[in-house]
Amino acid sequence: MSRFGLPIRTCYVRACSSEVEGRKLFCYAHWRQLTPELQERVHSSWKSNHLSREHFRAYLEAAREALAFINDSEVQIEAMVGPQP
Ligand SMILES: [Zn+2]
Repeated sequence: MSRFGLPIRTCYVRACSSEVEGRKLFCYAHWRQLTPELQERVHSSWKSNHLSREHFRAYLEAAREALAFINDSEVQIEAMVGPQP
């Protein structure tokens, strides 16, 4: 449990084992990789995701896009520096 009493789990990025609070998608390092537009979409859709099924779907869509964006940028980094051991 974090100091706010929220459950702790790991970042949604598969290769990342950083711990995050349960309501967050990503660790700080991965969150920072998102564009400001994606951060805003995830954040604003998260705030309203409890309102309706449609809002929740919008949140899932934003989260999926953010994850795809991070995975893509990780692949690009790997292509630049070569595979890590
Ligand atoms: Zn992470």
